[in-house]
Parts: sequence; structure tokens; C-alpha cells
Amino acid sequence: MITVIGAGLAGSEAAWQAARRGVRVHLYEMRPVRSTAVHRTDRFAELVCSNSLRGAALENAAGLLKEELRRLGSLIMAAADANAVPAGGALAVDREGFSAAVTRALEEHPLVTIHREEVRQIPPEGIVVIATGPLTSDALAEDIRRFTGEEYLSFYDAASPIVTVESLDMTKLYRASRYGKGEGTEYLNAPMTREEYEAFWSELVRAEVATPHNPEDRNVCFFEGCLPVEELARRGPDTLRFGPMKPVGLPDPRTGREPYAVVQLRQDNAAATLYNLVGFQTGLRWGEQQRIFRMIPGLERAEFVRFGVMHRNTFIKSPRVLLPTLQTRRRPTLFFAGQMTGVEGYVESAAGGLVAGVNAARLALGQDPVVFPPETAVGALARYITEADPENFQPMNIAFGLLPPVPGSGGKRERHRRAAEAALRALEAFLPVIEPEPAGVGQEMT
Ligand code: FAD
Repeated sequence: MITVIGAGLAGSEAAWQAARRGVRVHLYEMRPVRSTAVHRTDRFAELVCSNSLRGAALENAAGLLKEELRRLGSLIMAAADANAVPAGGALAVDREGFSAAVTRALEEHPLVTIHREEVRQIPPEGIVVIATGPLTSDALAEDIRRFTGEEYLSFYDAASPIVTVESLDMTKLYRASRYGKGEGTEYLNAPMTREEYEAFWSELVRAEVATPHNPEDRNVCFFEGCLPVEELARRGPDTLRFGPMKPVGLPDPRTGREPYAVVQLRQDNAAATLYNLVGFQTGLRWGEQQRIFRMIPGLERAEFVRFGVMHRNTFIKSPRVLLPTLQTRRRPTLFFAGQMTGVEGYVESAAGGLVAGVNAARLALGQDPVVFPPETAVGALARYITEADPENFQPMNIAFGLLPPVPGSGGKRERHRRAAEAALRALEAFLPVIEPEPAGVGQEMT
């Protein structure tokens, strides 16, 4: 028997994966008894904003992730495919039909018992998956904070954009850390002349800010340490030059002089394929971020794997708290899944639910939990959240930059196609390890 808390994208998938392996599931969902600031219905897997599950093609990382989930018997993907609506190259769904299908499948499953109540504490015993999402209720969030330690739980997400290194123009950037500290290789620097800086600043102060879906987001994180970059810019033409764009201690080796202003990009993953814009947390609309940040020298063709955000988001510092099986390090019978673990997005949350559900079921069946292959998008995501730099950990969407680079040359599209093929080959080889046993064979030990 396992307990799953939260019937969103991750919890619904976790419950389904355990039940289809013959394991009894108690699924707790607090809606409608108690709702969140953004959910509107009492259905499971409610899509709180867009009805798009993003790109469908395999050359798109979200498309690959969805295809892997299909092959892994995902309930979320079955419900999405059955409720697809026309959306060009994306998979968009009829949101009512989609969440009704997920709710029905779980309500009708003989091994799933549903409890409509708020869980206020982590159950002290048994196999438990916590998948309560970015708007986890306060009482449970407080108990999770006690479990993880204060510094390992965040209540907001003030994140800077992340770009792929392959999309940067390296001829315009230089490697250096301030005052030559550290190895000097972990930062890329984009120097700006006075004219470039002034043009950039004047666009930034006029840029359009996103309208928050959650009213609480208006108050998120407006204390000094993490002001959005556009807010700093509005304080005066030079504020950024004395803040995140400070050139002091960063002479350009090509001129020997400090530039007028500098944007620093910090290595974001172990493979050094992704870099984040240091101090550029922002609430600007995504289109505005792309338009304005591409004015930075070297970023003219930057590919954004994640845009900056400022919103309420409860997530744990997974690199410190979790193993790649999504078990907690401190208590192997306790799993986390979904947005709580520092993934971002509907499909990414479902993928985490799948990993946690499979592994929770394996524990219940007396089997060892498994690590999904890093060549797969599902495995790469689990690996990223558990191996990223813990000090700068911010939630992440799936991106090809998280997968191991594939050998050979070719354009981006071609390399992505090859990475997707390698991922699906690795998944096919892995499937027999985790396939549910035929009915009656792999029943849960009691
Ligand atoms: P959720 O889907 O939120 O599920 C968590 C569930 O747990 C909820 O049903 C909640 O009621 C329940 N719960 C919470 N606390 C308790 C408790 N104590 N006891 C019992 N039940 C509890 N992603 C996208 O891909 N596209 C978007 O357009 C998008 N827009 C977003 C807009 C907002 C405002 C937010 C906050 C997030 C958005 N996301 C979006 C990010 C993310 O993909 C979704 O939040 C996604 O639903 C996360 O899945 P989840 O399963 O982790 O959490």
C-alpha cells in the first residue's frame, strides 16, 4: 500500500503507475474541501493556466518527454491524447475533458481509494509520495520545511532566464570571474559599451510585465535581495551598473579595461551546456524577455530553455534532499514528485509523478527502486534536479541541454533528432526492467 498526497499532474500519474503495478493506493486531494488561489474545479490534474502541453514533434524536448511518457503507460498522456484539440505543432487539450478523464480513471480503478481532505503533516510511516504542487497548503508546507530544514524549502520562484551555450556568440563573450576568483571558467561575460547599455536600459524600463495568474504573485519577493531586473532598472539609469551589471573586477582580456557594463552568465549544469543570466530574475512577459535580452552582445540568437519568472512556488532543494529515484535521502520510503521537486511544467510534473509512482510501487512490491536512464528525457530531468548546483537551484523545464550530448555534427534540429532517437532506444532497453508484471504475478506483499 502507498499513500499519494495531491491529485494534480504528478500525484495522479504516481497513483496510476502504482495501481497498474498491483499496488493499493490511498490518494489524498484537498479540493474541493479546500482550494488554492489558482485551481477552479474539484477535478484531478486540473490545468491551472494554458491548455497546451507544448510541442508535439520529437525534435522538441517537450515532444520527446511526452513520447517517453506514452511508452511508459502514462495516464496523463492517454488522457491528453484522447482530448487533443487542434493546435498546430503543439499538443493542446480540452481541459475539461482532460481532467475529467484523469479523475474517472482513478475513481474507477479498484486499487485506488480517494480521500477528499487536506493532509496537514507528512504521514510518519509507510510509503508516501508528496505531490502537492507549487501551491501546497500552508500546514503541510510547514511540516515539509521541518523535515527538509528551513533553508531547503522555497516559497517563491524568482528565477533568471537560462540559455543554451551553443546558441551564444562566443566571439563577443569572455570567461572570467570577478577579481579573478575561482577557476574563472564558470562565468561567461557579455561586455557592453555605453551606447549598448543605454539602449538596453531604455527598452527594459518600458518592457511589458506579465499579468500574474495568482493574485499572491504581486507581492512575491520584492525584498532587496531579489528585485526583478526591470524594477532595478526603473530606479535609475545607473542602478543596474552598480548591481547585477557591475563591471568592476571584470576587465575584458581583449582590451585590458573594464567595460561600461557587463552581463554575467553562470554555468547552470554539470555538462556546461546551459548558462543563467546572473541577477536577471524577472517578471517580464516571455516575448519581451526574448526581445530585450537578445540585445545583450553575444545573445543575439540566444535560445531560452527557460524564461525568468517571479511567482509563488513551493519547492524543495532537491539536489540536497532527493536521490535520482525521487526518494528522500533521509527517509527512503518518502518520495517527492512534481513541481515541488523543482521541475517546471505540466508534462515535467507528470514525468516526476511517474518516476515516484513506479519506485514507490517497487518498494511496496519488495523490489529496489530504479534510476531512469540519463539518456532519456525522464531520466535527464530526474538527474538534473538531484545533481544541479544546490546553491543556485531553480526550477527547470525539460530541454535537450539536460541530455548527454550526442556524437556527430549537423545543425541543431539534426542533433536534437539524434538525441531523441538515442533517448527512445535507451527507454526501450529499460522498459522490461519496470514493466508491470502480468496480472497476479507481481502482487503487493502485505
Ligand atoms: P498541481 O497540479 O498543483 O497539483 C497539486 C495538487 O495537490 C492540487 O490538486 C492541490 O489541490 C493538492 N494539494 C495541495 N496541498 C495539499 C494538501 N495539503 N493535502 C492534499 N492535497 C493538497 N505549467 C505549464 O506547463 N503551463 C502553464 O501554463 C502553467 N501555468 C502555471 C500557472 C500558475 C499560476 C502556476 C502556479 C503554475 C503553472 N504551471 C504551468 C506550472 C506547473 O506545471 C503546474 O503548476 C502543474 O500543475 C504542477 O503539477 P503538480 O502535480 O506538481 O501540482
